Amino acid sequence: MKVHTRAVGLLQTNCYIVEDEASGKAVIIDPGGDGQGILDFINSRGLDLQYVVITHGHIDHFLDAGFVQAKTSVPVLISEADSGFLEDLGWMRAFPGYERMIRPKAITFVKEGDVISFGNTDLQVIETPGHSPGSICLYWPGRSDAQGGEGMPGVLFSGDLIFSVDVGRTDLPGGDTHQLLDSIRNKVFTLPGDTVIYPGHDEPTTVERERTENPFFR
Ligand SMILES: [Zn+2]
Repeated sequence: MKVHTRAVGLLQTNCYIVEDEASGKAVIIDPGGDGQGILDFINSRGLDLQYVVITHGHIDHFLDAGFVQAKTSVPVLISEADSGFLEDLGWMRAFPGYERMIRPKAITFVKEGDVISFGNTDLQVIETPGHSPGSICLYWPGRSDAQGGEGMPGVLFSGDLIFSVDVGRTDLPGGDTHQLLDSIRNKVFTLPGDTVIYPGHDEPTTVERERTENPFFR
């Protein structure tokens, strides 16, 4: 499993291209802009795109999901609770670029416990409300050396739930600070400390670093 990061759009949202190296299959997480650039990258590596996954219904994370689907016909996955944001942009109409947005034609709902499989890679869906009602994280549990080859720590794609020594904002519609902190405590801090967190903005961090250094949990 290999993670490629591209900062896209006005808010430099981290779009992740997750590659299953053995099969060449891949998924895109949060194509919040630069859809053509993302597809060019996928084509340049000869990857076989399987899914677009949206961590939550904010436009800087899904702006080009419909564009990618229009070009590739892959399923677009999001939680049911946040899917309404794709239909009714509401306050997000203020976001530059919304007027050229292509709506995804078909949306597939994912929920807690679902597994998104491509090649030999499985991403587990974890529901982590707080930043938005339907925010999800995607967890890959890692690989031990006992399974042959090199061991790798687990990986968590956290959307805007948690950032490097910071947490997501909760002042947008549907946000809830209490819920957000509970989601982090119960769904993130319970993961192995060496799990690498890939957030929706800024640099990666680890579960252990956030447990010990995140100012919201002291
Ligand atoms: Zn957000």
